[in-house]
Amino acid sequence: MSGRFPPLETLVPPHIRDIEPYIPSKPDDVLAKMFGCQMIYRLNNNENALGPSPQALAALRSLDPRQAAVYPSGDAYHLRHKLAERYGHPSDAFLVGNGANELIAFVIKAFCHEGDNIVTADRTFTVYEWVAGFSGFEARLVPLADYGFDDEAMLAAVDDRTKIIFVCNPNNPTGTYWDERRLRRFLDRVAGRQIVVLDEAYGEFVSAGDFPDGMSLINEYPNLVVFRTFSKMFALAALRIGYLAGDERVVEVIRRTCVVYSVNSIAQAAAIGALADADDQIARTRRMVNEARAFLRGELARLGLVHFGDQANYMVVRLPVSDTLAYRKLMRQGIMVRTMTGFRFPNHIRVTLGPIPVMEKFIAALEPVVAG
Ligand SMILES: *Cc1c(COP(=O)(O)O)cnc(C)c1O
Repeated sequence: MSGRFPPLETLVPPHIRDIEPYIPSKPDDVLAKMFGCQMIYRLNNNENALGPSPQALAALRSLDPRQAAVYPSGDAYHLRHKLAERYGHPSDAFLVGNGANELIAFVIKAFCHEGDNIVTADRTFTVYEWVAGFSGFEARLVPLADYGFDDEAMLAAVDDRTKIIFVCNPNNPTGTYWDERRLRRFLDRVAGRQIVVLDEAYGEFVSAGDFPDGMSLINEYPNLVVFRTFSKMFALAALRIGYLAGDERVVEVIRRTCVVYSVNSIAQAAAIGALADADDQIARTRRMVNEARAFLRGELARLGLVHFGDQANYMVVRLPVSDTLAYRKLMRQGIMVRTMTGFRFPNHIRVTLGPIPVMEKFIAALEPVVAG
């Protein structure tokens, strides 16, 4: 018997048929060969060039490789207790996932049913829209106003089939944020009818005094679910670990959809280490990022380039040429940025803020691109 090819036209549901697959970037060695450069500076994923904190590194070094034989804690027990200590919520108010990306899927699975929708912005982290899409739910994408989330328009987009509203604060890629007054006013008007996800993937980078701390609002607003990640500030992106926090009753529902053992032991140990010297890591990283931002602002002004993003660890630059062309030219100099056409910002690139010598290399590579 030979196997017959499956009838994909009928097996694959329409909402999957229409999806364009995401193409991940190639490994450094492959890229270096393709573009003929010595090494690659990855300024495309908002990673932290300082690397993991001393305590996170120590935790990784102290792991016994033979423990690879044993399943991890299925509910990140010790990590959740450390999070509980740090943030003053019960450990059951936390749910740990294989990156915040996995948490998006958990929340959508927990609350959305056939015919439901989610509401978010048109130019924000695209994973909310993707996960909703491949799960068969409508993503209502509300245009940004002034590069920020438009609260009024989002409320207007909500209907009785809206289950979740995703707010990215500060927003990736525009770097804008809702201050505490605006967030509270929004939550007051949602009045608990929907789950509001506040994605604070870059929250630790923001030092503005009016920036809201979602974690301190979950007692007041039990429909609020806060996302955090160890990928960006804590430089553990390779280990894939993030968490959400919310009212215990809400988190209990989300937990029902989660895949046990999706968060490995190495990631859990490193995250516990990262929490031990978190404040140090945050202070050092903010210094590096602020220096880079000040430097780039001056240089981009000199080149006459419009740019935005005054929070988080990235900036968006508008170019006089196509972003894909700029990408290829920058890659030949070993500089990898994120093209923004996929974020619905054609002719824009996003660049991760890092050490000054790397920022200088970026500007040196960008200058001829802009000059044509
Ligand atoms: C990077 C990022 C995340 C997810 O990060 P993980 O690596 O999956 O934890 C979530 N939200 C935003 C806005 C991000 O930029």
